[in-house]
Amino acid sequence: MLQLKSFTFNPFMENTYLLYDETREAVIFDPGCFEKYEQKELSDFIENEELELKMLINTHCHIDHVLGNAFVKRKYGVPLYLHQKEQPVLKSVTSYASNYGFAGYEESHPDYFISETDRIKFGNSSLEIRFVPGHSPGHLVFFHQETGICIAGDTLFQGSIGRTDLPGGDHDTLLNAIRTEMFSLPDTTKVYPGHGPMTNIAFEKEHNPFVGKRARF
Ligand SMILES: [Zn+2]
Ligand SMILES: [Zn+2]
Repeated sequence: MLQLKSFTFNPFMENTYLLYDETREAVIFDPGCFEKYEQKELSDFIENEELELKMLINTHCHIDHVLGNAFVKRKYGVPLYLHQKEQPVLKSVTSYASNYGFAGYEESHPDYFISETDRIKFGNSSLEIRFVPGHSPGHLVFFHQETGICIAGDTLFQGSIGRTDLPGGDHDTLLNAIRTEMFSLPDTTKVYPGHGPMTNIAFEKEHNPFVGKRARF
């Protein structure tokens, strides 16, 4: 059975997710841990649960989602996976990290590019990939059929959507991608976003003010 553990890291209150199954193999999404105590919270959990981390995956590469990339790569020796269109986004973090107060930000580099035609496989688990650009040009979302868990990054939030005013963002692209790629997931899909509480597809179809039935924006 696939299990999910969430952490909330850094001043952006970014949600980092670990998925793991009965084999104890695990993947981590968007490690936002920057401070030592945040890194320890993550590594203590991995140690206590006796997990074997296999992959590091970025849904997209804004600073709040990649602050812990270098730490995770170094500590666990895992490869970094992301969409090719996020490579320049990741690269640019180096130039603005100190403006946001993250002096000492350590660069990381992708090992593999992934896209919606791939699957993420670890232990006995397999995740589908959806391409949901608009918040960021190469944003990916990950879906586990059997449990209905969806790692959504900054696409769809409870009652909101990702901002589109950052470089590479586009409002209409995001609305369209959510409607086609995320609203085609089962209504019961549990959406775990990059910020804030989880939600589900049925609720957002009904109530989301941007992409729901009675969208106002
Ligand atoms: Zn973002
Ligand atoms: Zn974010």
